[in-house]
Amino acid sequence: MRIDLLTLFPEFFRSPLSQSMLQRAQGLGAVEFRVVNLRDYTTDRHQVTDDRPFGGGPGMVMKIEPLVAAIRAARREDPEVKVILMSPQGPVFTQERARELAMLSHLMLICGHYEGVDDRIKYYIDGMLSIGDYILTGGEIPALTVVDAVTRLLPGVLGGEGAVDEESFQTGLLEYPHYTRPRDFEGHVVPQILLDGHHGLIEAWRRQQSLRRTLKCRPDLLAKATLTLKDKKFVETLAAMPEEDR
Ligand code: SAH
Repeated sequence: MRIDLLTLFPEFFRSPLSQSMLQRAQGLGAVEFRVVNLRDYTTDRHQVTDDRPFGGGPGMVMKIEPLVAAIRAARREDPEVKVILMSPQGPVFTQERARELAMLSHLMLICGHYEGVDDRIKYYIDGMLSIGDYILTGGEIPALTVVDAVTRLLPGVLGGEGAVDEESFQTGLLEYPHYTRPRDFEGHVVPQILLDGHHGLIEAWRRQQSLRRTLKCRPDLLAKATLTLKDKKFVETLAAMPEEDR
C-alpha cells in the first residue's frame, strides 16, 4: 500500500515514520510513505498557502489552489488514489474504517492547519476523517493516527498471526487483560488460571474478562457486539450483580 501525506510541515513526519512498526512495515515492503510538501504546489514567489477568510473573523484559511494542484498531481499519477481530508467535521475514524482503508492500494491524507481549509476542497476529495471530538492544531497528528492504525493491519506487518484478530474493537469488545513476569508485584498477583496452563479454561476466562471490561467501561460497545448465547448469559449474570462485585 502507498500512503501520501500532504502537509505544510513535512519534517513533522520524519521521526514517527522511521521508528518501530512503521519503520519495519516499510522495510518489509508492506507500505510506502510519501510526504508531500504543499508548498511545492504553490505558483507564487512567496509560496503562500494561506489567506484571510472572506467575511472576516480570526485566523487564516488554507488556500484552495495549491491543495487542488497537489490532489490533481496525485490523481494523474495514480487514478486509484483515495484522497481524504483530516477534519474534525468528518466521520469519526474507527477500527472498522481502518480495516476498510487497509484494503486500498493508495491513500492520500491531507493535513489542514490554521482555521482549516477553504470549504471548496469538498469538490476535489473522496471523503473526510476525524479522529475524535476535539480540535488539534493541525492534521498531522490525526493523519499519523490513521497511518499507524492502517499500517499495522497490512498483511505481514505484525509478527504474531492472530495478534490483530483478538484486539479491542476487532471483535466488537475490549480485549482481556495481559500479564507478564513477575507473578507477584508488590502483592498484586497474576490470576492463577493463567499460570495453570489449561488452554480451554484460559480461553473461557479471557472471554469473560473481555465481556466484563466491556460492560464496565464501554457498555455502548456491548450493545452492538455479536455475542454467543453463553456470552449473553454471562453478561446477564454480571448485570444482575451489584456494580462493585462485577
Ligand atoms: N476551525 C476548524 C478546525 C481547524 S483545526 C473547525 O472548527 O472545524 C486545523 C486542522 O487540524 C484541520 O483542518 C484538520 O486538518 C486538523 N484537525 C484538527 N482537529 C482534528 C480532528 N479531531 N480530527 C481530524 N483532523 C483534525
